[in-house]
Amino acid sequence: QPELTGDFGTLMEWADAVRRLKVRANAETPTDARTARSFGAEGIGLCRTEHMFFDPKRIIHVRQMILAQDEAGRRQALDKLLPYQREDFVELFTIMQGLPVTIRLLDPPLHEFLPHTEEDMREVAEAAGVDVKAVRSAAIALSESNPMLGHRGCRLGVTYPEIYEMQAIAIFEAAVQASKATGQTVVPEIMIPLVATRRELDLMKVVVDAAASKVFGATGVTLDYAVGTMIELPRAALRAGEIAESAEFFSFGTNDLTQTTLGISRDDSAHFLETYQRKGIYEKDPFASLDQEGVGELVQIAAERGRKTRAGLKLGICGEHGGDPASIHFCEQTGLDYVSCSPFRVPIARLAAAQAALGKAAEGQK
Ligand code: PEP
Ligand code: MG
Repeated sequence: QPELTGDFGTLMEWADAVRRLKVRANAETPTDARTARSFGAEGIGLCRTEHMFFDPKRIIHVRQMILAQDEAGRRQALDKLLPYQREDFVELFTIMQGLPVTIRLLDPPLHEFLPHTEEDMREVAEAAGVDVKAVRSAAIALSESNPMLGHRGCRLGVTYPEIYEMQAIAIFEAAVQASKATGQTVVPEIMIPLVATRRELDLMKVVVDAAASKVFGATGVTLDYAVGTMIELPRAALRAGEIAESAEFFSFGTNDLTQTTLGISRDDSAHFLETYQRKGIYEKDPFASLDQEGVGELVQIAAERGRKTRAGLKLGICGEHGGDPASIHFCEQTGLDYVSCSPFRVPIARLAAAQAALGKAAEGQK
């Protein structure tokens, strides 16, 4: 594991002594979680659960699940995925030793999980015990022309609640298991993605709360947990006041919030953004450094309205901007509680958070 020692380690200690913002990491693999810890991350701010399913042993069940014709077919596939998920979370909770871990429920742009080749289709058909023609037509029916604005995030949980139910059960079972094994109580933070309305969040909370009751009833262990939401759509930012009635924390997904506010695709912007920067339309790449005016104003509005409803609402950022020094300064100014970035950016985030805190203090003295 990489370690911060010598002068670098000392510099980090100085930074930690002055910074106010907590620094977490975006991590879903044990390797990333360990790297995050050794770089001083104070928790996991975003565990993207969809990344856990690309392993060949699992993707087959994920495909079977999304292509199933009915709930029974989906549940059959989900039963296969549950033990993998439980194992994933036990490992993360164990590595993080009681530090906060925010787990985001499934948010795949669906096309990433669709079978592409005939061989993939045959494999899914065999696993599900159905005709390959049924799989092919289900795959065609599910393909979308604009997947990033399509059936992803909580929309998937709203249409197929059993997916989020499986994940929530895996999280609570893992939390109970890891708490017993490590002697440190795990307080899972469950995060609902791509929420636009409070009603979506409320529907998903019912699923999560039912899963918690089921696991706590069966194990005889009751743990605290929090359910919160990502704020990554302009509507969610504007309606943050009512969303905060149901959310125990907000995490700003500024990758999607940038995409949806500027109307620029995250995946297809490189060829014109360079020209845009050269012509002074955007000073920096807005996907790398927060557009502090447009996107930033939405973040400020959401922070203000959310905290008006719920004083002390925990606020973080988990888009790429969470590791960008200029964006971290903005997060300090806006009063967020933490930034979450890729593990290798944790040291720079610690330093930037310290500089931001010093900058703010100096401003106060003027
Ligand atoms: C985001 O949208 O900023 C985010 C963190 O989620 P993802 O990048 O996984 O869409
Ligand atoms: Mg997102």
